[in-house]
Parts: sequence; C-alpha cells; structure tokens
Amino acid sequence: MYSDIFKLISEYDKIILARHVGVDPDAMASTMALKDSILLTFPEKKVYSVGSGSNRFVYFGKLDKVDDMKDALLIVLDTPDVKRIDGIEIDNFSKIIKIDHHPFVEKFGDIEYIDDTASSASELVLELINETDLLMDKNIASKLYLGIVSDTNRFMFNNSTGDTFRKIAKLIEDYKLEIDKLYEPLYLRPISEVRLEGYVGLHLELTENGVAYIKLTKEILDEFSVDAAAPGNMINNFNYINEAIVWVFFTEDTKNNNIRVSARSRGPIINTTLANFNGGGHKYASGARLMKMEDAENVIKALDELCLEYKKNIESGDTIENK
Ligand code: AMP
Repeated sequence: MYSDIFKLISEYDKIILARHVGVDPDAMASTMALKDSILLTFPEKKVYSVGSGSNRFVYFGKLDKVDDMKDALLIVLDTPDVKRIDGIEIDNFSKIIKIDHHPFVEKFGDIEYIDDTASSASELVLELINETDLLMDKNIASKLYLGIVSDTNRFMFNNSTGDTFRKIAKLIEDYKLEIDKLYEPLYLRPISEVRLEGYVGLHLELTENGVAYIKLTKEILDEFSVDAAAPGNMINNFNYINEAIVWVFFTEDTKNNNIRVSARSRGPIINTTLANFNGGGHKYASGARLMKMEDAENVIKALDELCLEYKKNIESGDTIENK
C-alpha cells in the first residue's frame, strides 16, 4: 500500500491535494504536510493544495488556485465520500488516492488507504512518510503534530493509541518540536469566541436522557460578532459534563443557507444517527446539515432516544462495547 502510493506520487509531475469542506486543523495539516513532504522529496514537481480557506488556519500555509488540473494525480485526504470533497470534480482525474481515517462511506480512489482506527489523517500521512522515501523536516513534523493533537482533542479521545504516542514522542525528539510555541496559533482565539462560549454554557438545554443542546441563530452570532464556524471550534470544550452524554450545537449559517450541526458523544455512537440527517463523521464526533432550525427537534429526539438506549444497556451491564 505505502509503496504503491509512493510509486504513483513518483510518476506524476503534477499533484493536487484536496480535503473535506468545512476545513478543520487535521484536514489542513494533513494536506499541507503531505504537499510539503512531496515538494521536499521531489522539488521539481508541481504540487497544489486546494479548497476554501479559513483565516484561522493560515499558519498551515497558503492554499493554491489551480486553473489547469489536466494530467494531475489527485490525492484526497480526510474525506470518506465524493460529496464532501472541497472544490474538486473527481471525474477530471485518471488516478485518485484516498487517505482517510473516517468510517468507510464509498470507494472513489484507485488506491484507498483507510484506517478508521487511526487518530487522524495526519497520523496516516506520518505513517506514509515513515514507511516510504518521502522526506520530513521540522516544518512538516510541526504540522503533523498539530493535526494529531487537534483530532485527538489533545489525546483525550480513545483514538490515541500507544502507537500514536510512540510516533508523537519520536516526532518531538527527532525534530526538537517546541510544543508550547506550536499550540499558540492552534488555540489562540478572539475574546468574542470566549464570550460566546460563556453564553453557550449558560444557555445549554438538557433533555431527559442526557442530550445537551443549543440553537444559535444568526441574531445570537451577530450579538457576539462571530461567524457560523465559531461554535464548532468550541464544542470539544463541553466534554465531561455530568448530565450530558451527547452534546450538540445547531448553528444558523446564512451564507450557506442551512443549519450546521456539530455533535459529540462520550457514550453512544452518533454518526449513524446523524447520517439520517444528511450528516456523518466519526463515531463520537459527528456533524450534519439541516434545511431549517425547526428540524433540530428531530435530531434532538433521535439523539435522546439513543441516550436512553445507551443508559438502559449500561444499567443491564450490556454495554455497546460488549455487544
Ligand atoms: P465537526 O462537528 O464539524 O467538527 O465535524 C465532526 C466530524 O463530522 C468531522 O469528521 C466532519 O468531517 C464530519 N461531518 C461534519 N459535518 C458533516 C456532514 N454534513 N456530513 C458528513 N460528515 C460531516
């Protein structure tokens, strides 16, 4: 698998790297690190990273605009299905590589390097570099470190294995990473977002069976001078609330004319439920898009039922993990 990917990369002069819509640090880090590594190894190649940007992630590097994608190899990272690829028509490519850690949704790559037990797409890129002649330097190591830190929520999710820690320790040692300096751009945020976080804490509602939720309308976002992406950036900070097994934010996105749903769980598997609402993602970190805020009630109900079932299973000693 690794050597097949390396062989294809070696063969192409032009390579386009793409990732999912609604970019996050792991999607950004994995594509930028792979781009940098290919360019370090093969300086003569043309390598582009595409998709919509976000001011928040400029420290990962500049995205590219590509007019001519003819004869290029496409590598899609951190994206399980075609409809979530940002800014690319896959029919324009004769060869595609997928590198992903989401649960499988559909096949679209000629080579599919998928490991849904991996912490992050960045960890898969790290593995690919470690296992092939692709080169690494401190800049690449730093990006991969941040991608892994972000998608594991600072190693708090159980997708951080002993293997993840071993790889991370080696990165820190080999490239003398100054982790305090790396965290700053990742975690610095405007005070408007901190104030919104306070608002969320005050206004979270709770269902009978342990779903904490909030509906953030355009009006509320305007009051705090934040955009529709802001609530998603803070959802991991609401982990470990006694009364909440699942927590979910509904945010009005007037730019895209939909409602962004961001959900997390410390118990039941939620991505299969959110798949019924035009969503998906990971077992315990998942998202969806709704047409209107009224539809939020159906999501809350479905998640509440899931929590009820989960609690019953726990009480009877029949946990999901034991099934
Ligand atoms: P978020 O809450 O936006 O951080 O998303 C959590 C996870 O769910 C990420 O892996 C996203 O790629 C995925 N996700 C978010 N929105 C959707 C959606 N509408 N459809 C499928 N997956 C999604």
